[in-house]
Amino acid sequence: MDFAGKVALVTGGGNGIGRATALGFAERGAAVVVVDLDSDAAAETVRLITEDNKTAFDVCADVTRTGDVQTYVEATLQKHGRIDCFFNNAGIEGRVAPTAEYDEDVFDSVIAVNVKGVFLGLRHVLPVMLEQGAGTVVNMASIAGLVGSPGMPAYVASKHAVIGLTKVAAGEVSSEGVRVNAVCPGPIDTRMINELAAQVNADDPSAVRTSYESSIPLGRFGKAVEVANVVLFLCSDLSSNVTGAQYVVDGGRVASPKGVTSQSELQVDLRRADG
Ligand code: NAP
Repeated sequence: MDFAGKVALVTGGGNGIGRATALGFAERGAAVVVVDLDSDAAAETVRLITEDNKTAFDVCADVTRTGDVQTYVEATLQKHGRIDCFFNNAGIEGRVAPTAEYDEDVFDSVIAVNVKGVFLGLRHVLPVMLEQGAGTVVNMASIAGLVGSPGMPAYVASKHAVIGLTKVAAGEVSSEGVRVNAVCPGPIDTRMINELAAQVNADDPSAVRTSYESSIPLGRFGKAVEVANVVLFLCSDLSSNVTGAQYVVDGGRVASPKGVTSQSELQVDLRRADG
C-alpha cells in the first residue's frame, strides 16, 4: 500500500481511529490533511507526522457546518491541488438510554455529526474527485450500522444511514473512477468505547468491557490501527474492484457472537426435547 504522491483527507483525525489512519497514510507516503473539531488534538496528530519528516497540516472544522466543510476542502486544494483519499470518519456516540426515554436534542446532535457530517463530506469532496476522474472514499459506519444495539437508537440509526449513503454514492460515481466504501468496526479501544462503558456502569466500566469482550470470538477489543489498516486497503489500488461495500472489523462479533446459542446447538437441544 503505497500512497506516495497522494493526498489524504481525514476527518476526526485528531484522536482514536482517525489519528491512527492519518499516521498510516503518512507512513506510506501520503500528504495528510487532519480535520477535527478539537484543534489541539489535530495539531498533535500533525506534530506526530511532521516530526517523522512526513507532510501534514491541520484544519479545525465542525463537520456539521457547510462553511467548515468547504473550508477543509478548499484548504486542501489550495495546498495540494487534489484529494485522492477521503476518510469521512468524525463521529460521536451520544447517550446510552432506551428509545422510550431518549433525549431529542442528543438524538439531533448524533444525527448531525454522524449522518449530516458524512453527507456534507461526500457533497463537497465528490465533485473534486469527479473532476479528477479518480479518488477513494471510506465512510465510517460501525457494526451498529448492521445490527441493533439496545440503548443506542440515535447511534444505530446514524450508522445504518452511513451505509445507505455509501451505497447511493458508490452507485453514482463508480463509473467515473471514484470508489466509495464503508468500514464497520466493532468495539475499538479508543475514548469512545471507554466512554460508552462508563455510561453503562459508571462504578465499574471495566466490568462492561470484560463482559463485552467475552462475546467477541477474538476475545478482545480491536485496536485503532487494525481499523486504519482496512481503511488504507480500501483506499489503495489493492481494492480496485471494491465499491459500495461494508468491511467489518470486529473480531468476529457480528458473524458469531459468543454466548449466543448457535443454530447447531439449538438443533441439538430441539432433538433432545423431541426425545
Ligand atoms: P474519538 O477518539 O472520540 O475520535 C473522534 C474524533 O472526531 C474526535 O477527535 C472528535 O473531536 C472528532 N469530532 C467529533 N465531532 C466532530 C465534529 N462535529 N467535527 C469534527 N470533528 C469531530 O472516537 P473514535 O473511536 O476514534 O471514533 C471515530 C469514528 O469511528 C466515529 O465515527 C465512531 O462512531 C466510529 N466507530 C468507533 C468505534 C469504537 O469502538 N471506538 C466502533 C465503531 C465505529 P472531540 O474530541 O472534540 O469530540
